[in-house]
Amino acid sequence: ARTPIIAGNWKMNKGTAAEASALAQEVVAAVAEKSGVTVIVCPPYTVLHTVRGAVEGSTVKLGAQDAFWKTTGAYTSQVSAEMLKDAGVGYVILGHSETRGRFGVPEPEETIKHYGETDATVNLKVKAVIAAGLVPIICIGETLDEREAGKTDLVVSSQVAGALTGVTTEQAPKLVFAYEPVWAIGTGKVCDPTEANRVCGIVRQTVRSLYGVEVADSVRVQYGGSMKPDNAAELLSQPHIDGGLIGGAALKAADFAAIINAA
Ligand code: 13P
Repeated sequence: ARTPIIAGNWKMNKGTAAEASALAQEVVAAVAEKSGVTVIVCPPYTVLHTVRGAVEGSTVKLGAQDAFWKTTGAYTSQVSAEMLKDAGVGYVILGHSETRGRFGVPEPEETIKHYGETDATVNLKVKAVIAAGLVPIICIGETLDEREAGKTDLVVSSQVAGALTGVTTEQAPKLVFAYEPVWAIGTGKVCDPTEANRVCGIVRQTVRSLYGVEVADSVRVQYGGSMKPDNAAELLSQPHIDGGLIGGAALKAADFAAIINAA
């Protein structure tokens, strides 16, 4: 059986040392009695060291929200997987929809949050993160337009396959995927659990077509998008849903712990 995996994606929140340290300490205290679940917190880069200190000696793991694919060099603003490893990171979120690109689509300034990420850049990052000995959490998911056009399964399977070019069968079993329907992120509109399970099954089926049934049975698939204490149990009881990638509800230790306790 797969170990449930719950990760908190803090996004650009709790980014001061005081806030980050307080939340991480609360999470550590709240999950101290819980075993059998992989628990990860993914704070902003600037407070990774602070949170590392706060989770040290606990079962809570440290994650990052992105990584660049080069090791070192003239890449202003970027952070490599090796640098993250040295900072104590074990898991790296890659290809989050808030970083995936929509080239040529003009957006009002207040909604611009896309950094030109493509399946190709996600793939480079996946390989770099694996090479550094870290575990990627690969995000995939359709937009509302894509869902309404009946393209959900195609979008999700092609994002999964696109992320995995050049990843070997030996490397694949440890991978983590996060199915995050874009329309469910931060909106309070959670995906119906049966439908979320079906699409997480598409993720697993895509992995199976690439690497075989054993690998497909090993990879862990999270659901993300408005997962909260009151809907977590039903989502997490689905056979293809192995955990959650939590945004808003990860910013309150009590809510995050309630989700973890539901796993
Ligand atoms: P919310 O839980 O705030 O909807 O965010 C989900 C998410 O994007 C996690 O990566």
